[in-house]
Order: sequence, then C-alpha cells, then structure tokens
Amino acid sequence: MKNSALILFPIFSAVFFSSCSRYTRNPRSNQNSDVVVAKSYEHALLNKDLVEGALTFDLIIYRNSASRISWETLIEQIEYAKEIFGRASVQLNVLGLHDVIVKETLLVISESEFEGDINEFDGTHDFYDRIDKQKAVLSRNTADLFTAISRINLGLHDHRTISIVVIDEAKTSWFEKNGDTWTKKIVETSALSFPPYKYSNRLPLPFRGFIALQELKSEEKYKKTLAHEIGHKLINVSHESMEDCPQAVAHSTKGLMVYGTGTEIPGGVEGRWHQERLQLSPFLYVKEGSRRRYNKDFEQSGKYSDSIYGSFVVRPSCQ
Ligand SMILES: [Zn+2]
Repeated sequence: MKNSALILFPIFSAVFFSSCSRYTRNPRSNQNSDVVVAKSYEHALLNKDLVEGALTFDLIIYRNSASRISWETLIEQIEYAKEIFGRASVQLNVLGLHDVIVKETLLVISESEFEGDINEFDGTHDFYDRIDKQKAVLSRNTADLFTAISRINLGLHDHRTISIVVIDEAKTSWFEKNGDTWTKKIVETSALSFPPYKYSNRLPLPFRGFIALQELKSEEKYKKTLAHEIGHKLINVSHESMEDCPQAVAHSTKGLMVYGTGTEIPGGVEGRWHQERLQLSPFLYVKEGSRRRYNKDFEQSGKYSDSIYGSFVVRPSCQ
C-alpha cells in the first residue's frame, strides 16, 4: 500500500470545519434522520495518475464509522481495483471518502425478495434468463438504507456513481434446484453488488450504483473483493470465467469474476466478452473539459443481454 497515511486526513467533519474545499458547508445539510456525515477525507493523491480521454468511472465510499473495516484496508482495495481495471484501459476516479453515522437498524441488510413465478423460470436452462425471471427486488431495509444515503447532499453523487456503503451484515439469496424442487437459498455474504442483470428495472434508478460491503480482509485472496464487486456492476455478469459457466457461486483460479485470486478481465468470446462489456458500461465516461460524456445508457434496464452489448453476450449461457 502506498501513501494511505498521507491521503487520509479529514477535510470535513461534523465537529470541524475545513475552509478550503467544496465540502465546506453547513454539516446540517449533510444530515437526515438516518444518516449523518461525520468526516470526509482528502483523496486527491488517489487520483493523481488519471489521464485525459480515457474511459473512467467514479467511486464514492460511505463507511459506517463504527465499521470493522479500516480505511487502510479500503485504500488498499481501491489501489488494487485501479490496477485491475487499469489493465483493461479503464480508470477509477475517487469522488469522495466519507465516514457516516448510520441508524443501527439499517446496518444489517436482509436478503432480497423475489416476485417471479417458479413455474416460469423452471423451464429455462439459461442462467441469466432464469435470474431475470426470478425478479429480485430489494428488501425493505436495503431500500431504506439506500434512500437515506441518497439524501446526503454532497452534490457529487448520481446514479452513475459507484457508491460503496460499508455496513455490518448482509445476506444474499437465490433459487437453487434440489431434485425437482426449487428452494430459496440464503447465505451471509461479504458484499452485495446489486447488479443490473439481476435487479433490472426493479432497482430504482437512484440506487443503480450502490454496492454494500461488510467484510474485507487483506490476504491475497480477498484483496480483489472491491474490484470483483465493481466488476458485477460494470461488466454486468455473475460468477463466470473463461472456463466456468455462470453460477451463483463459482471458484476458480482465473478471472476477476469468480472467487479466487484471479484478476483477469478477458476479452473475446473465450473470455465471455468481459472486456468488451466493461468498455460499454453506462457507468463509464470520458471527460471532455469539465463535462463527462457517458457511454450509452441501458436500453432494457440492464438485463444481461441488454441491446447496448450488441453481440457481446453468450447465449445460451451454458450449464
Ligand atoms: Zn461476486
């Protein structure tokens, strides 16, 4: 890790006013009943290597100030994500690093609900078609957390910003077939990325960029967690790699989008078009003067086969 001690000094806090940044404002405007911004940190050094004209995405982190996850760990993960996406010609622009005080009941995220009809998705063998037909929707407390965070008015965030919310606990859920019966599987998870292919138009637009993190470890095999979660948003795929069909859970040694140490974002059909899909992501922009020129927005709410991807889909997704 480089320079994190230098990077992380507060530039705004609820008890201390800085006089030299756009964060200088009445802290009461950054508060609502469920979330208060306690501190904002300087992050310019993390952006010092950005270049003009390259595809870029914005990242903002809201860390529950009582979190077990340290800023040191988060910075290490940001730097690793910069390196991983940089190899695929995509750069990461840090927009903000904030400690927030969050109402306790919002720090535990329940599993998603599903509105789909089992009879409808039972008939398909295509992974992404099946996920789409299950119709995942956010749990009530997840929606409440994201609503509260969205109301923090820092003047920076919008639905194209990748917004990491560091919480205490999270559960993920999906349907799994045992014999002839589909059952809802619910497991504790270290992160939830709420990818477009799974939530589609059931994810309210202001929440499109949200990712929840609850556990990050510094060992090599976890070091890529932040980049992996961002990959779910930007590449818009589940767990899959050059050699592995998409699954709810997949371990392998190769590829950013499976559990393991791999960090490759491969291109071509043999790479399941990960690099090509990444570069078409609506979260990416190229800076033109002070303006951001974003990639085309989703045309079918971000389904796996959304027409923005053209032929960069693998169908059927294989078993
Ligand atoms: Zn994942």
